[in-house]
Amino acid sequence: NTDTNVSRIKKLEESVINRIAAGEVVQRPANGLKELIENSIDAKSTNIQIIVNAGGLKLLQIQDNGHGINRDDLAIVCERFTTSKLATFEDLSKISTYGFRGEALSSLSHVSYITITTRTMDTQCAYRAKYRDGKLAGDNPSPKPCAGNIGTIISVEDLFYNMPLRRKALTNPTEEFHRISDVVTKYSIHNDSLAFSLKKSGSTTLEVNSPSSATQRDRIRSFYGAAIERELLDVEDSCSDLEIKFNGVITNPNFSGKKLTFILFINNRLVDCNTLKHAIENLYAQYIPKHTHPFIYLSLSLLPQNVDVNIHPTKHEVRFLHEEAIVSYIERAVDKVLLTANTSRSFSIQK
Ligand code: ADP
Ligand code: MG
Repeated sequence: NTDTNVSRIKKLEESVINRIAAGEVVQRPANGLKELIENSIDAKSTNIQIIVNAGGLKLLQIQDNGHGINRDDLAIVCERFTTSKLATFEDLSKISTYGFRGEALSSLSHVSYITITTRTMDTQCAYRAKYRDGKLAGDNPSPKPCAGNIGTIISVEDLFYNMPLRRKALTNPTEEFHRISDVVTKYSIHNDSLAFSLKKSGSTTLEVNSPSSATQRDRIRSFYGAAIERELLDVEDSCSDLEIKFNGVITNPNFSGKKLTFILFINNRLVDCNTLKHAIENLYAQYIPKHTHPFIYLSLSLLPQNVDVNIHPTKHEVRFLHEEAIVSYIERAVDKVLLTANTSRSFSIQK
């Protein structure tokens, strides 16, 4: 069109806007699943079971035994910005749940077919509802009563069915499954009082099997191997000036792994923090051979008002106040533990 007088700017249709936004929140099966796991934990579940088919692209299903969703809430639960967790902007600074933006289910419903089966303590039966583009789907969309335990089952089918380019880009279900299992593994290590399981649909083998009786060390052993678990040291420290507490497990200077595992939770959120990661890696470089790496799991508690939780769901790199001071404090605390371990090692070698 060469006619410069014709207007070219048009407002996008609502459904297109929503789908684009949804595709930003849910980039691949694993981060969709992370949102679902966090919802289950927010609902006070103690048992979380996950089934996937084709790396989560055909099916991603999560079953929990949490408090469930009220029947009356089922109509709007997948709409954008509907949440039971946040009412005012001020609430953000003291939020203790994972969720607060009410975007996960809505986003998933714009890029897949969602079925929710849920039952609360107050009802004798469960209710099942299907969703499409944020709304109840079908000719007779009201939630149907059915049998079911207290808790919630959410099935996400044919992820990105309506985003052909995205769907095509995710060509490798094995790779997607690997990412899913990585997320489940890390949440299982951090939430070691909860039971987690992960399996491929149709299979009887559990790819992740963490019964509630499995300790954190049991879980690390089963995911990362006994060779790592044997060499773990506990770290725990706190600093009142910086208003920070942390704990975790780290490999001792005897251990030199082929690749780095660095698992970091800040205020119970799985995050990345490159400055901390590099600081810890540099520290280990003084203890272990070149080109070898430690295993690190750290859980930090910072004052909620010092951490920016208002980050986008896909932004994993976290921002917090006094970052430099906090990083160097953790580095020193870890160094103390490594130094002690190293000293006792040279003593036992001399004997
Ligand atoms: P958010 O977690 O930010 O509130 P979501 O879109 O993830 O937003 O979830 C919307 C709402 O659906 C939640 O606030 C919660 O009330 C309900 N919900 C989602 N998943 C579950 C679940 N597994 N058990 C109970 N309630 C749930
Ligand atoms: Mg959520």
